[in-house]
Amino acid sequence: MYDYHVHSEYSHDSLADPREMIKRAARAGLQEICFTEHVEYDENMELTSPLQIDEYAANIRKLKEDSPVTVKMGLEIGLKDSNSFERALNLAKGYDVDFIIGSVHWTDEGDAYFPPFFEGREKEQAYYRYLELALPRCFSSADYQVFGHFDYPAKKAPYKDRAMYYNMASGIFDRLFTYLIEHGIGIEVNTSVYRTMEEKMWGLDILKRYVELGGEFVTTGSDAHVPERVGFRIKEAMELARQAGVRYVATYEERKPFFHKL
Ligand SMILES: [Zn+2]
Ligand SMILES: [Zn+2]
Repeated sequence: MYDYHVHSEYSHDSLADPREMIKRAARAGLQEICFTEHVEYDENMELTSPLQIDEYAANIRKLKEDSPVTVKMGLEIGLKDSNSFERALNLAKGYDVDFIIGSVHWTDEGDAYFPPFFEGREKEQAYYRYLELALPRCFSSADYQVFGHFDYPAKKAPYKDRAMYYNMASGIFDRLFTYLIEHGIGIEVNTSVYRTMEEKMWGLDILKRYVELGGEFVTTGSDAHVPERVGFRIKEAMELARQAGVRYVATYEERKPFFHKL
């Protein structure tokens, strides 16, 4: 099992000690953990979370030496436009970055994590709006390894049933997956959208369509910001992908994929 999406104190929204994250990963039975700290530019091209990449890279090197699990250095870059993506890549230049997640957090109504995004919108409208905004942003680069949490707004959505379905935005999903597959970019099964161990997982229909269009691999990530969430429902995420017909779960080194049969 691989947790390819975790944040530590190098991200603005986490206080977690990476050593604790690694310890937890070992206890949870993971083979590998990839830190994916935030790099996100706002509309004024200012970093919303000023990543100390020097320190981060140095620390990862140190952690790699005596870790009970394989440790990788990744980034989660906020997709906006080609300009900001290039800038983010420049920041990473010269560092051994193993893996980049391209994510969309920001919308015209702010981060889709916060209440204003959902104001006056039914679930279907909110999710469609998010994916509609995400699509051109995904096209802004082909230089990331996976598109992160396609169901991101579900994370904090104020609806009783937060499940996202393919038919809520079938045309958008098709265009998105076609682009990603053509460019060798995968998608992520992100388990942070589930609040408890019991909550029913969604996404099977979405993953099935991804496979129909030619998608062969996913990465799995807990998006943990605290040690307790490392490895959260990763096993089930793999099972969901397998059920959908996804052939491989991918890990990365220096941004080259390794495919593990599901
Ligand atoms: Zn994210
Ligand atoms: Zn994240």
